Order: sequence, then structure tokens, then C-alpha cells
Amino acid sequence: MSVLKTKKKTLLEVKDLKQYFPIKGGLFGRTVNHVKAVDGVSFDIYEGETVSIVGESGCGKSTTGRAILRLDEPTGGEIRFQGDDLLSLNKRQMREKRKDLQVIFQDPYASLNPRQTVGRIIEEAMEILNTVPKKDRTNRTIELLEQVGLRGDMINRYPHEFSGGQRQRIGIARALAVNPKLLICDEAVSALDVSVQAQVLNLLKKLQKEYQLTYLFISHDLGVVRHISDRVIVMYLGNIVEIANKKSLFDNPQHPYTRALLSAIPEPTRKNRRERMILTGDVPSPINPPSGCRFHTRCPMATDACRTNDQQLREVEPGHFVACHLIQ
Ligand code: SF4
Repeated sequence: MSVLKTKKKTLLEVKDLKQYFPIKGGLFGRTVNHVKAVDGVSFDIYEGETVSIVGESGCGKSTTGRAILRLDEPTGGEIRFQGDDLLSLNKRQMREKRKDLQVIFQDPYASLNPRQTVGRIIEEAMEILNTVPKKDRTNRTIELLEQVGLRGDMINRYPHEFSGGQRQRIGIARALAVNPKLLICDEAVSALDVSVQAQVLNLLKKLQKEYQLTYLFISHDLGVVRHISDRVIVMYLGNIVEIANKKSLFDNPQHPYTRALLSAIPEPTRKNRRERMILTGDVPSPINPPSGCRFHTRCPMATDACRTNDQQLREVEPGHFVACHLIQ
């Protein structure tokens, strides 16, 4: 699906992506049902932009990121990266492709080997994917540490000797060590203090220019999303409900779910304050999602038609797509 009329080159195309996780039960451990974590998601990402996926916990945003990287094998759909069909690649070809597709996770400590020095951690990434000749690896590691705002002489320290923000910078340096094109940042700043969050976000923006990076930013935090994104995808219960550029989405949200999410952001000035839309009830189970529009059990505008009619994304203004039949 082409979501924006632009001359930019498409880097990633996701079509009808599905990720169902089996639920085993009974005496013989048979599959008795599925968690439909992602259920028919389509979007494009253009070279050099930052696209964010936002939504409540359990909406499928992190699962989408993991499926793109094939950390979990998708149930169905198509993922094309620079035109190559990622789901048709064998293990060796996919490992080769991972040079271009890197990820930064929420908890940098969990993803850094505590028994390795940061120098070894970063050099190992270069070694596995053979991105830098052996003789140049130490110099490149020092350069990367400095580019992410650390000192080159920290190369022999261990992860526990760093703060949370510094560890996230090490994670970024490790990702950059293999010269990626797309960086998937999965709640990458969620565990950091607000002031440190801003520093890491600014660092990511600076590195994006220097390395011509493209970001897929996954976050539940709309403040972070507003700071970093060019375009925003809103997900609810495994579906996309709205896609728009950042300005359209924040100035003119259309889908009732997006409006409810945005109304919960604290705004310091009265002028910017939105009328609070409080959603009642919990997010339904992705095992048996509601029929029709999945949001109908919580939507204050729901009609009878919403309970039976599936909602497809429709373009309501250039580049702004909404899955709600009330929005024309
Ligand atoms: Fe609400 Fe119906 Fe629109 Fe879904 S389709 S968001 S339930 S009004």
C-alpha cells in the first residue's frame, strides 16, 4: 500500500502481515486457539524517514517489529526490504540481511553481555557480520563510542559500569557497527529518565542525518513519538486504525481511538488542551477479538454497523488514512 505520494524511495513494504501465536491445550498439547497479535497490517517506510508505531500495550506494535526482523516467524503476509522478499530468505541469507536491519531494545542491560567489555561487544557485531576488517575494528569501535557521546577510553569497561542512558548509547553504537539502513527502536527510551530520554532522542536524530538512517520507532509514549516522527501509525488490537504524517495526526486526529490517546497527553497550555476522552473497559482479548471494528466495545461513537462491518483504511486527505466508516 502506498500511503504517501512522494518521490522518496520505499525502503520497507509490509503487506497484510499476520502474526498468530498458537495456544496449546488438552492432553496432547494440540493447538486449541491462536492469539492474533497482528492481523493484516500494511504500511510502507521511505528511505530516511522516521515512522512510529504507537498504541497501548498488547496492540501488536512490538510484535510487528519482531516479525519484520523475523525474530518471530510471521504467520502470513509479505515483507519487502529494498524490494527483496524477506520471508523467502533462508537462514544464511537472512543473517546477511541483518546487516541492514538492526534493532535497539528497551532494556539495554539485558541485551549487553555482562561478561564482555563494551569494546568486545561492539567488535563482535562487526566480526559476526564481517562489516569492518579485523585490523580496523578497535579504531572503529573508539570512533563509534565517541559518536554516541561516550569516551573512547571507555572501551575496556563492562556494561555494569555505565548508567541506563549510557548503556542505551552502547546499544546504539553496536547497532551502527554493522552500517544498517533501517533501525527498529523498540521502546528504546521507555526505561530512561525524561532528561536522558531527550538526550538519546536527539542523538538518534543526529545519527540519522550522519548515517542516512531510516527508523521504525515503536513506542507507547506519544510525547516521544511527537518528538521523533515524520509519520505515525496507530495500532489497536492487532490492526492499524490510522496513519498520517505527524502534524496531521497531532493537529487533526480522526479515528476515535487516536483522539482518545491524544486527549490523555498532559498539555501545559490551556490553548493546546483537548477535551479528555476517557475510554471505558479493557482492551479485549486478541484470542477472540470483537467482530466488525475491533474498537467497537470501547468506542463512544459506535453504531450497530460497527459490530458487523470490518473497517479498512481509507485516505481521508492526502497521506492521512483512517479505518472508521464515520470519517469521510
Ligand atoms: Fe468507533 Fe464504529 Fe468508527 Fe470503529 S467504526 S471507530 S466503533 S465509530
